[in-house]
Amino acid sequence: MTVTHFSELELDERLIIALHDKGYERPTAIQAEAIPPAMNGRDVLGSAPTGTGKTAAFLLPVLQHLLDFPRKKSGPPRVLILTPTRELAMQVADQARELVAHTSLDIATITGGVAYMNHAEVFSENQDMVVATTGRLLQYIKEENFDCHAVETLILDEADRMLDMGFAQDIEIISAETRWRNQTLLFSATLEGEAIHAFAERILKEPVKVEADPSRRERKKILQWYYRADDVQHKTELLAHLLKQPDVQKSVIFVRKRERVHELATWLREAGINTCYLEGEMVQAKRNEAVKRMMDGRIDVLVATDVAARGLDIIDITHVFNFDMPRTADTYLHRIGRTGRAGRKGTAISLVEAHDHRLLGKVGRYLNEPLKPRVIDELRPKTKMPNEKSNGKPSKKLLAKRIQDKAKNKEKAKVKVRHRNTKNVGKRRQAKAKRENDA
Ligand code: AMP
Repeated sequence: MTVTHFSELELDERLIIALHDKGYERPTAIQAEAIPPAMNGRDVLGSAPTGTGKTAAFLLPVLQHLLDFPRKKSGPPRVLILTPTRELAMQVADQARELVAHTSLDIATITGGVAYMNHAEVFSENQDMVVATTGRLLQYIKEENFDCHAVETLILDEADRMLDMGFAQDIEIISAETRWRNQTLLFSATLEGEAIHAFAERILKEPVKVEADPSRRERKKILQWYYRADDVQHKTELLAHLLKQPDVQKSVIFVRKRERVHELATWLREAGINTCYLEGEMVQAKRNEAVKRMMDGRIDVLVATDVAARGLDIIDITHVFNFDMPRTADTYLHRIGRTGRAGRKGTAISLVEAHDHRLLGKVGRYLNEPLKPRVIDELRPKTKMPNEKSNGKPSKKLLAKRIQDKAKNKEKAKVKVRHRNTKNVGKRRQAKAKRENDA
């Protein structure tokens, strides 16, 4: 049976009211699939990229459990959620707080970037649910400041990212520390690859696999195309032009490296575009400020790296720009998921240099439809379109020709008679001839 309304999920009235407050009318595909087995206490292995409603898919069943079995006296957390980044931890906690607005459940976060003692309240007061990043949590566990004994449900959000970021071992330690738990929920953008499978096998017990393939449906809402660019300079011109289009209201621009974040933000500001940025090394307060400025619309353009923008949930982003193409098709999918959220339309535009064409092909195959090229008349590329196989490198034939040409040029250079060599001819010639005889 497919669940089409929240009322079919036997959720507590207080949660239903909160869902109504948030404007959720009916469950998304992943919510409809994951909530019933999770409410029955089963482990869940969920495949769901961001933008599909996965957060509520794992929050609702555990919140329901906390309401069904209220604790008799205050104590340490009963639900522990791990996320790859601080931003995601805060966003998950914010959603949870909205969902428990009509209950007395307590939600806390434990992340890096916050003074150690600011977490003191987490240890002293009652906590029902803690959302944490692994590094700081482990520190508290090791120093016996965090009590894992009461954890009944462990949730891993964006597990593939956590593995990518090298947190596998940390999570396994936390999993061992919470071994008395009854339930584990693991959500990941994709379940492809040996690493995530092996990992899930170690952490989960006979999980129900939910793979609502919502991505295809969700993706339909995101228009995607690309512009060919000759070089970085050309990309900057294209971007500045595109950002000034009237339909481009709120954008996230992805770049590959941290250094590029600052560079591009400066260029854009110079071009008169009000820009803020997010990068991994920024202090937490500055990061929060950037996200806040985007959220309340004081700034409409955010430049970010993949790591910094992970989990970013700003509902009205109209455009995602790939200033630098990502390294993998999976990251591409993650990036474009920042737009087209909660049923809105979104546009994802990639700026593609010659060396990006192979990846462009991969993305097309991954999405089952090739990205379409577009051209801005006054900013047409001067270079030719490379074929996909060449990856922007010159073909063997072209290379051979270039080597030949180079050799020819060298020859020419040898016989070239420069004006300065013809001055003082007598003396100079003699000297040269002598040198050559000596050699
Ligand atoms: P997520 O995939 O959890 O990051 O959620 C993506 C966006 O969809 C967030 O802005 C959520 O607030 C929103 N959302 C989640 N569930 C629903 C729902 N059932 N109806 C409408 N919007 C939702």
